[in-house]
Amino acid sequence: MLHSRGLERVLSGHPWIYRSQVREMDSELNPGDSICVFSDRKRFIGIGFFNPKSEIVIRLLTRRDEPINRAFFEKRIAQAVAWRKIHVGAQSALRWINSESDNLPGLIVDEYAGFFVLQVTSLGMDQQKDLLVKILADMFHPKGIYERNDFPTRNLEGLPLTSGCLLGEPPPPLIEIEENRTRLWVDILKGHKTGFYLDQRDNRMTAARLAKNKEVLDCFSYTGAFSVTALVHGAKHVTAVEASEEALALAKENVQLNGVEERWKGELANGFDLLKALSVSDQKFDMVILDPPSFTRRRDTVEKALSGYKEINLRTMKILRESGILVSASCSHHIHEMAFEDMLIDAAQDARRTLRLVHRGTQALDHPIVPAIPETQYLKCFFYEVNAL
Ligand code: SAH
Repeated sequence: MLHSRGLERVLSGHPWIYRSQVREMDSELNPGDSICVFSDRKRFIGIGFFNPKSEIVIRLLTRRDEPINRAFFEKRIAQAVAWRKIHVGAQSALRWINSESDNLPGLIVDEYAGFFVLQVTSLGMDQQKDLLVKILADMFHPKGIYERNDFPTRNLEGLPLTSGCLLGEPPPPLIEIEENRTRLWVDILKGHKTGFYLDQRDNRMTAARLAKNKEVLDCFSYTGAFSVTALVHGAKHVTAVEASEEALALAKENVQLNGVEERWKGELANGFDLLKALSVSDQKFDMVILDPPSFTRRRDTVEKALSGYKEINLRTMKILRESGILVSASCSHHIHEMAFEDMLIDAAQDARRTLRLVHRGTQALDHPIVPAIPETQYLKCFFYEVNAL
């Protein structure tokens, strides 16, 4: 039973119920059970997964009184698939299920050319893993299903860190996917997230369109997906900067796979140091892509994160030629789009530059945004033309 406090958020569509919101709890509940939730006026709210170990004690699955069984999960997965078919179209790699924003809290399912990768972030969903694998197998007939449940936030739910093959063939060390008319190797065994930043698909294409005949710096390049997309679509030259040796090695293989290696240079370097050095040098670019790792995963460090973003963006504005394009991304959900935009405007002022908005991007549509669940909106990607003041 819930307190009326905080109920508004839940009633307006947010699926999380925190420990402090719960007034009364049945003593026979088992961790991971799906349980009925009522308001303090005994109004039925919904059914959700229960986990007493987590701060989020209940994750609502439905607002209806319905059985949580195979048919329920099949229906929800089919809805997620339908959204992609309508809004994303055929892709060799995509996110089929994006947790809360597909009404399946705690479940992420990505596909890479017939291989499926599962990430489970809640105890209740973890207990349904065998069932979910069966449903996915029947629905998609994948070559294999692999779990990448080796990320530390699993600990918050009291779940062990694990990875391995759940069904079918074990995935090869590298899987070739196709995106925006490029070919890319993805390492689902060891790569970031489930192997690849699927969420940047549209922003990579927007950047590529603007990069024609341009000299580009792809800072924080990971496996070079922005680099390759820009080169395949006509960029003159791309320099990629990345601190991880493995990621940069794969970026090199990716440019080779697309036959664009002559127009690409990889630099194993700290992006922050490199931008600092470039900002006082004479070297200039026509486009700079900044896609750094998240600067904050907590609300209380937002200010510090914003000053970090400002520093790299200000330096970047100084290394752009007149009318050059700044592509600036942030994947920190705690940094809101308006705060990020204000920071960019501030940086431009300090760098004595003016900005003209070319495009305001976010995550690709296989990572749907549900306004009632602010956590589902995390990626911002601004495209600005930068000129001297
Ligand atoms: N643009 C990429 C994703 C970038 S993710 C894509 O579309 O696929 C951020 C990357 O920054 C990661 O690959 C990480 O290894 C790298 N990174 C983190 N800290 C860094 C640093 N100090 N200097 C350079 N790269 C860094």
